[in-house]
Amino acid sequence: MAKRQMAMVMDLNKCIGCQTCTVACKTQWTNRNGRDYMYWNNVETYPGVGYPRNWQELGGGFDAMGNIKPGKIPDMRRDYGIAWEYNYAETHQAKQLVPHEEPIWGPNWDEDVGSGEFPRTNYFYYIPRLCNHCDNPGCVAACPRDAVFKRDSDGVVLVDQDRCQGYRYCIAGCPYKKIYFNPKTGKSEKCIFCFPRQERGVPTSCAQQCVGRIRFVGFMDDEQSQVHQLVHKYKVALPLRPDYGTQPNVYYVPPLFSPAKHDANGKPIEGTTRIPREELHKLFGPEVDGALERLKSEMDKRKAGEPSALIDMLVAFKQSDMFRMDSNYYKEVYGRRIAAPLDERYVRGKFTTSPTLYR
Ligand code: SF4
Ligand code: SF4
Repeated sequence: MAKRQMAMVMDLNKCIGCQTCTVACKTQWTNRNGRDYMYWNNVETYPGVGYPRNWQELGGGFDAMGNIKPGKIPDMRRDYGIAWEYNYAETHQAKQLVPHEEPIWGPNWDEDVGSGEFPRTNYFYYIPRLCNHCDNPGCVAACPRDAVFKRDSDGVVLVDQDRCQGYRYCIAGCPYKKIYFNPKTGKSEKCIFCFPRQERGVPTSCAQQCVGRIRFVGFMDDEQSQVHQLVHKYKVALPLRPDYGTQPNVYYVPPLFSPAKHDANGKPIEGTTRIPREELHKLFGPEVDGALERLKSEMDKRKAGEPSALIDMLVAFKQSDMFRMDSNYYKEVYGRRIAAPLDERYVRGKFTTSPTLYR
């Protein structure tokens, strides 16, 4: 366990699947140097197979006794999809824009497909995914080189680029498949929770750019933080697939409403809902029942004109209401000016680093 833990809560009731977060992350961290196919943040349509393809079926994590479960490494072409390029240079010769090879899979491939029978029972919702910076990370447990590590200062999980030898046990060990192999450098890489931003008191790129204002970021031990309150006080935010045993630090407010099912005449069937409860149990565990009840009763209160601090928090009237950052804390951690220090082990091997950032 880290001394403090940076955490995120995402309210799935507000996600519109716009992928702004995905693009914000990609342009900041993974648009070159062998990272082209990586999506440290991606947004998936549920129900769906996601990215990499069928990641929930690929194993990793821990069993109920705490033993590491075997996992598979996704196939680069079949499960992630090749990051295709286009013939931009030829378009001024009136040639059609075409990908350089036939795409067979990619992030967001099953966008808005969902499940059910249109128009009576069909439904879908979005789940954004990133590394959970777990308390019990499968990637760390699986690495024989001690190259994947969890920072004591804020619990961010990073890959030491000097120690990593590209064995990829970490990829098999992560049940969320949120650690990737860089074929150019021969090392593993992953979401860094935008630690250079967080150290300066700025939230992650995906959170700051989020159009739906679904993402709350802060330290879990800060009782004033939204993440602490949503997880521990109101108990409406839950980890994804808690059965994997990695104890994630990214939490989700589960989807509360879906339209009623329609009968053969197109009339709503009273008291029905399109999202099966078993599906939410599988994704968020049995705690989801209580979380949904609490959300519903607070929402009913608000609709009746009564105050609800929980609903006000989830609405997030101002963007600044969503983040509780603490750059002063990092100054204490490093004992010198915040502009200088970062995790040195990471910076040494990182290729998207601008040296001027760290002077
Ligand atoms: S989500 Fe995967 S990569 Fe991230 S800390 Fe957990 S086990 Fe490691
Ligand atoms: S930017 Fe926000 S609303 Fe848009 S897809 Fe990402 S998490 Fe959802």
